[in-house]
Amino acid sequence: MRFSKTFIKTLREAPKDETARNGALLTRAGYVHKEMAGVYDYLPLGLRVIDNIKGIIREELGKIGCEEIAMSTLQNPEPWEKTGRYSDQEVDIWFKTELSAGGELGLAPTHEEPVTEMMKSYISSYKDLPLYIYQFQTKFRNELRAKSGILRGREFLMKDLYSFHTSEEDLDRFYAEVEEAYRRIFERVGVGDSTYETFASGGIFSKYSHEFQTVLPVGEDTIYYNADKSIVLNKEVYNDEVLEDLGAKGEKFEETTAAEVGNIFKLNFKYSEPLGLKFIDEQNEQKTVYMGCYGIGVSRLMGVIAEKFADEKGLVWPESVAPFKYYLIGIGEKGMAEAEKFFAGREEMALFDDRDKRPGEKFADSELIGLPFRIVISDKTLAENEAEICERSTGKTWRVSLTELFEKF
Ligand code: ATP
Ligand code: MG
Repeated sequence: MRFSKTFIKTLREAPKDETARNGALLTRAGYVHKEMAGVYDYLPLGLRVIDNIKGIIREELGKIGCEEIAMSTLQNPEPWEKTGRYSDQEVDIWFKTELSAGGELGLAPTHEEPVTEMMKSYISSYKDLPLYIYQFQTKFRNELRAKSGILRGREFLMKDLYSFHTSEEDLDRFYAEVEEAYRRIFERVGVGDSTYETFASGGIFSKYSHEFQTVLPVGEDTIYYNADKSIVLNKEVYNDEVLEDLGAKGEKFEETTAAEVGNIFKLNFKYSEPLGLKFIDEQNEQKTVYMGCYGIGVSRLMGVIAEKFADEKGLVWPESVAPFKYYLIGIGEKGMAEAEKFFAGREEMALFDDRDKRPGEKFADSELIGLPFRIVISDKTLAENEAEICERSTGKTWRVSLTELFEKF
């Protein structure tokens, strides 16, 4: 992308009301625009990061047989009333609106009820199962606190996957596959080392659910881990009874703060029972469908990655999610001409800072925007037939010959 042709604008200062580091940096670097507390617009750079994260999730869910759909955001209250979740106490607080023709609608805070209701049209026999479907969808929640930039939105992007099974064993099998897929996803987006699968409270039907918690100083959650980090629990289940259950009584646990980037639940009959999602088994008997649900906070994950790797100069993206791989700067007439040559055919890989600005400003913006590598071609480097490479994450700087630049980059 050519910087001069995009509407990316970097800002020297973050807006005054933006107190979270992720929000401040993402705003200053031109990734997002804040509409109001907990509500953000995604600009070209930000959308590319979101799309890269989505791409990785799609690939990993595809490997375990999941199919993507897109469900509606406007919600009919009826199924939610049946499960008792249309009252504000049950789900994160609803945004509701009146229909001009009378009656009320809600804006989806999550999708268990509508997806269960929808499946009544498609699941009738054991032959229809198992089934795994997911979506990337904007959820709406009237969150009380929305001061953490894109970590906690009133409008945010979630990946929600739902699975449907004939038996508990089959649900268990798939749940284990999702655990593996999640590990690969968090590994690939760059937070694998610091993301732990933690025990969390499971609700009525299963003993525990699991959260995926990324260690982060500004995270809103508190987690506890043992010496080798083989057992990690969130605060709700950190008690003697659970420790005994997990065979960890007497072990020493340490406390840290973390952000929940995903969670997985064995729902069993929690929604299929009240909503009447049933199937006919091989003996021709009617049975209730077993369900699981599996979320990832896609926009929160972007914020977590931004927070986690940023330094005093700006953002630092892992290559897998970075909007571009290279930040390209040409200095001087010859440097600019050579940079143009390099850019040709690499428009999707490089952000070419062709703006009419001083090199110092371009360097500062390259650090703020945080692409993995900066490539500088100047009259000075060209005198030696070279270009300068700088790796954003380490600050390591080195020279490569132009031949190597064109062949390997
Ligand atoms: P939290 O405890 O952080 O409020 P939750 O338990 O309400 O999360 P779920 O309803 O299970 O979360 O949603 C699935 C995922 O969506 C969460 O794991 C989290 O990553 C993300 N998420 C939840 N609420 C928000 C929000 N307000 N803004 C951004 N992401 C969110
Ligand atoms: Mg919540």
